[in-house]
Amino acid sequence: PPSPPPPHVLLLAFPAQGHVNALLSLAKLLASKGIAVTYVCAQHRISRLQEDHSCASSSLGPLVRLVGLPDRVALGDVGIDEGLGCRMWLIEVGKQMKDDFVQLLLELQGGVAVAATAAGTQGHDFAAAPSSVVSDGFLNWVRDVATTFHLTHYVFFPCSASTLSVMLHLPLLISQGHVPLAPSAEPQLITLPRLPPFWNKDLPEFLHARNEVSLERLKDCSSKLKEAATILINTTYEIEANVIDALHFKDGFCQTKRRVLTVGPVLPDEFLDDLPLSHSQTEKQEQDIECLRWLNSKTARSVLYLSFGSIYIPCIEEIHELALGLEASFCAFIWVLRRPPSTSSSSFSISNLLPEGFQSRLKDRCFIVSPWAPQLLILSHPSVGGFLTHCGWNSTIEGISFGVPLIAYPQFAEQQSNCRIVVDQLKVGLELRKHDNAPIILRKQVERVVKLLMEGEEGIEVKKNAAQAKDIIRRSLKKGGSSYENLEAFVCECFQHSGCKFQNKFL
Ligand code: UDP
Repeated sequence: PPSPPPPHVLLLAFPAQGHVNALLSLAKLLASKGIAVTYVCAQHRISRLQEDHSCASSSLGPLVRLVGLPDRVALGDVGIDEGLGCRMWLIEVGKQMKDDFVQLLLELQGGVAVAATAAGTQGHDFAAAPSSVVSDGFLNWVRDVATTFHLTHYVFFPCSASTLSVMLHLPLLISQGHVPLAPSAEPQLITLPRLPPFWNKDLPEFLHARNEVSLERLKDCSSKLKEAATILINTTYEIEANVIDALHFKDGFCQTKRRVLTVGPVLPDEFLDDLPLSHSQTEKQEQDIECLRWLNSKTARSVLYLSFGSIYIPCIEEIHELALGLEASFCAFIWVLRRPPSTSSSSFSISNLLPEGFQSRLKDRCFIVSPWAPQLLILSHPSVGGFLTHCGWNSTIEGISFGVPLIAYPQFAEQQSNCRIVVDQLKVGLELRKHDNAPIILRKQVERVVKLLMEGEEGIEVKKNAAQAKDIIRRSLKKGGSSYENLEAFVCECFQHSGCKFQNKFL
């Protein structure tokens, strides 16, 4: 008899880069286990993904297709990924995706062929209606829609377990008076059930009173997260075990039958091997090839990589302080630079951003990438020995997965708490900290921390810990490891919901 069609799962991403990337990697992982995935996000993000070689149809595989929902919110003065100003826009786009997603579900359940923006090779026909939906934890409207359409709903949480814990405990934090956190709040230790105490200043910045993201929306996110029966999370059990164990308990504020499945880090499969990547494996753009060629010319672990993710862009003054600090450190570095929103796009050039004569003085010692770097290719390169990061969760977990010690320079969102995981808990990084109330970092501070990490005593310990953390993570991704087995359990469930048998034939 003909074999039954594979289970069909919808993945719905919040339209910010970090969220989009992680969920796409999950899509590919699920497809590699025999699940057909319709990956849905706002059209502008899908278009971005298509510009990236990792979304070439050959790399997507036959079981993944990308579907863009119309961009219904005008961008106004703020460019995509042009600094913090675009955050409110992203939230609005996320909200506006609801009606179009409902329309998509109607079409899928009615057997109407859906126009995919991109689909894998050999064209799987996606004829079977989806049985489950996995949505980003920050899209709080999906649960109700999934219930209406009788779809099993799973949440994918793209941040750390610590941030998930804070989100789940939001009502308690509000009742304790910690949230919203007033700008003048005295330092205070917060105690949540079964968790080590932490300082109020390390709460995610979106819980600060001055933040523009509304508390009402976050409260709604929190209650929807509590209702989710299963939360997939982009972390590794072993690196946040105490928090994850605590998440399984029921208590007055978290009474659920919730299950938390750590499946991370969800890296593209070409980066899952322990062996150094053969950098010829993937299709690359010209800039990527140049960047890798430059890295090939450097000695092992000698290069610092600097990137602040897709949203934060330092102002020109801060770029200058960073540049001069790097110059004084004598370290070789790769730096991803993007145009600060305050500068005009028409006359923009990278050399205008940097101190006078900087690039010619540093010649071989620096490689500037703009506006976007092949981050995973860089982090997996043997010449890279440090990563100065804004501590976005994806960058943090990616850096740790490649055993690269970090310089933590958190800026907003939950980056401050990620910094504590890096510096205090895992001890895989050093912190680059501004003087109290200083608006920007100073060159001396940059020089000092770069030297400490790349050449100093402190660096030795941190490097050792980073190598160990990498091993722990890599083990978790292999058969028998925590993330591997959790993903397997989830895949098995998807097969059950669709009435298909999970035969392991794709493994
Ligand atoms: N990234 C990249 N190239 C860049 C900057 C970022 O590939 O030049 C990727 C990075 O690997 C990560 C994501 O974009 O997967 C950024 O997510 P993160 O959570 O670190 O930061 P955010 O952008 O959300 O602030």
